[in-house]
Amino acid sequence: MRWDEGHDSDDVVDRRGEGPAYGFGGGGGGLWFLLQILPWLVQSPLGLLVAVGFVGFVGIRALVGGGDTEHASREHAAQASKKDENYHFVSFVLDEGQTTWSRLFEESGAKYRRSKLVLYAGRTRTGCGAGSASMGPFYCPADERTYLDVSFFRELDRRYGAPGRFAQAYVIAHEVGHHVQHVLGTNEKLGRFGHQEGADGGSVRLELQADCYAGIWAHATKERGILEPGDFEKAITAAQAIGDDALQRRTQGYEVPESFTHGTSEQRMRWLGRGYEQGTLEACDTVRAKAL
Ligand SMILES: [Zn+2]
Repeated sequence: MRWDEGHDSDDVVDRRGEGPAYGFGGGGGGLWFLLQILPWLVQSPLGLLVAVGFVGFVGIRALVGGGDTEHASREHAAQASKKDENYHFVSFVLDEGQTTWSRLFEESGAKYRRSKLVLYAGRTRTGCGAGSASMGPFYCPADERTYLDVSFFRELDRRYGAPGRFAQAYVIAHEVGHHVQHVLGTNEKLGRFGHQEGADGGSVRLELQADCYAGIWAHATKERGILEPGDFEKAITAAQAIGDDALQRRTQGYEVPESFTHGTSEQRMRWLGRGYEQGTLEACDTVRAKAL
């Protein structure tokens, strides 16, 4: 894929430079400091004065929302220092994807709402609880953000045999697909179609649709002339590698279709391909599809 290496997105939040402790609440640092100096505080009148002042300061800051400002500026500082190739690549794919979705929504008379993507290293806090690299990339509907630890890119290559930027782009586009579902209220619609679990349940239907939406994005990159020969095959390789059946065979040696959550390799490749060939939302109606 031809992508612009200087690309910088307003929707990428870079937390990679913030360290692992940051993941468990911004107030932790202040409390730790207070505990360290507690013995001194209670021993001297001056210490007591400092303690009262400190508590007052924290209280006032919380009242005027200073905590948020500090949080925002910390995110900003980390962002300024970490604009490496991965940052530019993720920025490019996210913006390309969201521009495509804005256009598609507009064409059908709807309005797209942009979402953010958080880059982190190790673990981080999310609107859906603590996020960690071992969970792989995921979308949190509560704060409308995708969380990505870029070590997953290396894993895609080494562990799943799916190297290349387009395999990575597919993963990002899949998560953006979950945001599209969230904006469209697909989850609620799906609730009316029965069970969630199993090979033809709601979870698999949502995941295959997100793959199909990633295909729609790939279709758009082809139309824009930035797709290069062999690119789409890289996405297909990734979809094949992370099918439920393939993952279960790898980890436990056998398949349990009742526990499938994302669909088989064959299904993931097929729905990704369908979105890629047709490039329309209608092509991706896994909610009503009788056969997946
Ligand atoms: Zn998914």
